[in-house]
Formats: sequence, C-alpha cells, structure tokens
Amino acid sequence: MKYYAPKGLSDILPEEIPYWHAVEGEVRSAMSSYNYREIRTPMMEKTEVFARGVGEDTDVVSKEMYTFDDKGGRSMTLRPENTASVVRAYLEHKFFGKEELSKWYYVGPMFRYEAPQKGRSRQFHQYGAEAIGSDDPALDAELITLAIDILTSLGLEDVGLKLNSIGCPADREDYIEELVSYLEPKQEGLCADCQERLTTNPLRILDCKNETCQEIVKDGPVMTDHLCEDCQVHFDEVKSYLGELEVDYVIEPKLVRGLDYYTKTVFEVFSEDLGAQDALVGGGRYDGLVELFGGEPTPAVGFAGGIERLVLLLEELERVSHSGEGLDLYVATIDEESKKVAVKIQRELRKVGLITEVDYLGKSLQGQLGYADRYDAKYTAILGPRELEDDELTLRNMESGDQIKVSLDNYVEDIGKRITD
Ligand code: AMP
Repeated sequence: MKYYAPKGLSDILPEEIPYWHAVEGEVRSAMSSYNYREIRTPMMEKTEVFARGVGEDTDVVSKEMYTFDDKGGRSMTLRPENTASVVRAYLEHKFFGKEELSKWYYVGPMFRYEAPQKGRSRQFHQYGAEAIGSDDPALDAELITLAIDILTSLGLEDVGLKLNSIGCPADREDYIEELVSYLEPKQEGLCADCQERLTTNPLRILDCKNETCQEIVKDGPVMTDHLCEDCQVHFDEVKSYLGELEVDYVIEPKLVRGLDYYTKTVFEVFSEDLGAQDALVGGGRYDGLVELFGGEPTPAVGFAGGIERLVLLLEELERVSHSGEGLDLYVATIDEESKKVAVKIQRELRKVGLITEVDYLGKSLQGQLGYADRYDAKYTAILGPRELEDDELTLRNMESGDQIKVSLDNYVEDIGKRITD
C-alpha cells in the first residue's frame, strides 16, 4: 500500500454513514423547528478573518491553523471554526439592514492542526447555530436548549450542561489583573505554554489541559466575582430562563472557552457517557465580534458541536437503527436476453423508490441468490428464457422462500405493493 490519508484526516466509510445521516437529519430538523436557516460559507477565508475574529493569541490561531499562500500570494486559511466566517458573511451581505435577528445554522468540515487522538482530528465536522442581533438572555437559553435537544433526540440520556459568564471586556480586565497577581508568584509551577500565556493571554491558563496548571488555578480567583451589574443581571436571567425550561446545569467558574470572542455567557454540553472532559458542544455569547469586524455594535450568541465525537458515542451506545438499509429487490438473470429486460425493470422500480440491484459480476444464478441474501434483499426477481416466454417473472420472498409468478404487464404496481406492505 502506497497511499494513506494524511495524519489526522479520516475517511468516513459507508458503514459509518447511517450515523452521520442520523446526526445531520436530527440537526436539520431541530434547527428548522427552532427557526434557524442554513448558511454555507466557503471552506477557506483570508487568514485575517480568523486571526482577528478568533484572536491572535488563542491556540487555534497561533498553533492550529492550516495557512498557506495561494498562487496570487494571498494568505489563506482553511476554516478552523465557522463563527468568524458567519459574521464576515453577515456583514458582507448587509443582513443588519435586512433582518432584525439573523438565526442561522451550518454543518461542515473544519480544520485544526492538533495532535490527533480519539475524538480529536485535524479535519473534523461541526454543526453550529448563530443568532445575531439580540442580547436577550432568553436567546442564550434557546441556544442551550437547542444544543441539548439535538443530543437527546439522538438518544443520549446523560447530557449535562456547564455554564459560566466571562462578563464584558471591562470585567475581564479587572479579573485578569487579579488572576495575574495570583499566578505570578506561582509561575514556576506552570507549564511552558502557560508561563508565556501569563503575559500574552492569561485567561487561556484556565483551560490549559496540564494537570499541574489546573491544580494551580483551582484555588485562584473566579470570573463571576468580577461581573458588572449588567453582566450579573444577564447571567441571572439566563439561569432563570434555564430554570423555566427545566434545564439542569452546573456553574463552572473556570470555564472560559478557547476562543477570544466570547462575552458574558459561555457553556459546554457534555455527555456522561463520553467519560473524559471532552465536550460535545461549546458555545457562548460574542457581543463584540460584529463590531470587531467593522459593523455596528451587535450582540450575538452561538454554539458549535463536534460530529465525530457524537458519532463515536452513538456507535458505542448503538443508538442508531440500521434498518431499512438492505435491498428491496435483487433482479437475478439467467442469460443476456433476460439481463436486458432486467435493467429496464430495475429502472422502473427505482423510479418508484425501491432499492434494487442486478448482477454486474457475471455470477451464476446460485451466486446471484447468495449475493441477494448477503445484501439483505427482501425479494429476488428471477428472469430467464422461460419467464420471458411467458411474459412474467418469478418473485421469491427471501425470508420465507415462497415463490410466485408476477406478470410483466403490471409488475411495478404488484411488486411495489408487496414490498411496501
Ligand atoms: P470549539 O469550536 O473549540 O468550541 O469546539 C466545539 C466542539 O467541536 C467541541 O466540543 C468538539 O465536539 C468539536 N471539536 C473541536 N475540535 C475538534 C477536533 N480537533 N476534532 C474533533 N472534534 C472537535
């Protein structure tokens, strides 16, 4: 074997596709009942969209982006996430003048140069929702319930919610000052990355995965002690709406999320079944991002969920039904003449929605019946010189082995009825 997929990029094989369809189907149906419309942005953007949107000092931008110069010498980046692109599109197409509240969703691949491991790859897929144009805490609660409802409708039972508020930029400045004075005397104990973060982006230390760093920040100051009145009221309202909606949550004071654009509400939805700390969905409010991109100050809130992680979980829990995947009908033939009729028959039956197959491998009749069995065909139609002469086909029920004759004059209706019954 000479060629392999690049490290961290995987093929999604046909046998995994039912899980992907289940997830994508549930995402689309939930998004549509929550009144979110789909947007599809390009897979790559000019690098500055992410550098500016996500933040230069975040891991995503400083370490994980696939960035290259195109043939015109422009720096391009494969999207590591989609919120920055959505906001770029919102402004580019002047949606602020077209609708008061833009509620959009997306599904698609993202790219991050990370160390691949279970549930973490370099090309992965996210579904996400963004609501741009309102600072109503009820909208934060709507996005949280949307994220949860998608997971529960897929059959996940133990879905939990971690919630925090990281306030507005002014609150954060205040908090960061206190955090830095707490950490400075302990900096020797921090990992090399965090020692650097102490000057570049101290908040990031809170979500460092290194255990000693986590141990050090554990007893440090918490963001929620630094919220201004406006942010405190917003946070209280979000919690109160969640209460109304009967959504349980745990307040996680160290939850800050890895992207710079968040303000006020941040949250993660996780599954107890997933074990580790890895979240299925992450999101929050980003009231400053539209303005950062040159628009009017416009509040917004959104989330993104990882499909690979969800599929892994659904596979482990065997929550997706594979029924209805086999063939409805295999059309077995005995000679050239009957094969010519068979391809016509199969085309007519496919037009009415049946899943059919004929032999493309030159198999004997016995071999064809074996093939039909292997692919779970409900029925096999057998066509040979005798059938053609009598203007009929032999229809075999693969489960019972019963065989009947069906006239070639009205086989579509006849077979269709038997299969859908
Ligand atoms: P983020 O955009 O970092 O907030 O991540 C949101 C969600 O996307 C996470 O909770 C994961 O489910 C998923 N995700 C993020 N990065 C990866 C990755 N490298 N591989 C697989 N899933 C990922």
